Amino acid sequence: MKYVRYLQCSMCGKRVDSNHLWNRCRFCGKPLIVLYDLNRIRKAVTQKDIARRPPDIWRYRELLPVQDSDNILSLGEGFTPLLHAASLGHTLGFRRLYIKDEGQNPTGSFKARGLSVAISRARELGVKQVSIPSAGNAAAALSAYAALGGLKAFVYMPRDVPKVFVIECIAMGAQVQLIDGLITDCSQKASLDAYRFGRFDVSTLNEPYRIEGKKTMGFEIAEQMRWKLPDIIIYPTGGGTGLIGMWKAFEEMEKLGWIGPKRPRMVTVQAEGCAPIVKAFKEGKDFAEPWHEATTIADGLRVPSAIGDFLILQALRESHGTAVAVSDDEIMDAITLISRTQGVFVCPEGAATLAAFRRLRELDWIKDNETVVLFNTASGLKYVHLWAKELKAES
Ligand SMILES: *Cc1c(COP(=O)(O)O)cnc(C)c1O
Repeated sequence: MKYVRYLQCSMCGKRVDSNHLWNRCRFCGKPLIVLYDLNRIRKAVTQKDIARRPPDIWRYRELLPVQDSDNILSLGEGFTPLLHAASLGHTLGFRRLYIKDEGQNPTGSFKARGLSVAISRARELGVKQVSIPSAGNAAAALSAYAALGGLKAFVYMPRDVPKVFVIECIAMGAQVQLIDGLITDCSQKASLDAYRFGRFDVSTLNEPYRIEGKKTMGFEIAEQMRWKLPDIIIYPTGGGTGLIGMWKAFEEMEKLGWIGPKRPRMVTVQAEGCAPIVKAFKEGKDFAEPWHEATTIADGLRVPSAIGDFLILQALRESHGTAVAVSDDEIMDAITLISRTQGVFVCPEGAATLAAFRRLRELDWIKDNETVVLFNTASGLKYVHLWAKELKAES
């Protein structure tokens, strides 16, 4: 599994040796991206080979950065079902609606993909202590893979984070710090402590490998749709790792000859109370301005400023996609609608994709015969605090 050629800055293009541990580009501070020797991979593995492998992200191992397969830390992440949401679609008068149900990942969210890869690779490069700022799901996933790999984990979450995440992290042996403020405040503290105490900080896009884990969602959608991509993918965007990752996966697959040049229109959905990418997209900007006083029930979308903003915006534009902001009320309605028609208890971020779908249908941006994939990025089980009112009404 030695197919990585080098790491390259997504902005200035400078290259660095992938056998060393890196955070961001040391020249311009932007994210580093992994580049592979795709010609060699094309000869080494075929789509048929992949089809015979176990159903997790490591079935695409030639396209992942871990060098020695003994170093893989896996809890069975990935290869989540791509559900044909026929019943939900019927309710909405739409046939080709799919839900990629990431709630079925270890630790209940798609953060498992990125952290399985990032922690495997960090440990391979000799890291012993890791830290992360998180709205909950990333902290839980980091805690799990750090526990599995025998690393010490330090997690920084906003004080108002749902208790389930705090408990999950503590149970798995992480050291938890609750911070007064938002995820951006947690980031500052995490990176300061990482510097002071010599820990490796695995914040979103602050190291090159979480994106590699998340790009497997792009491989899976292709494989699950028999190597044809859908017309539209609607993605709840916080830091944008998954969207940027899938966009990279499509390019890699095309270069490998696994898919043709056709791309899905990529749609970012954010919450009205924190929509920096939507604003920048509408204003035609290349970068997003930090959002002030971010509020939404969808914690994963409460990211006031994303360091990969320009990469998200590039993917949206190149794909002829768009960006939509939805309200918390629309999100709550959408949770109920998906749960009651499809039996999938989605997280608010996942529900936001349905709210965006409905908006885009009203605008006729999505046509009747198109194929649409919604991303449910986590399990609704982590968000029972949103149902306090309903609980009272029942008792
Ligand atoms: C982290 C998270 C997101 C945002 O993911 P990005 O790839 O960083 O944009 C969305 N939903 C949930 C549930 C999350 O935990």
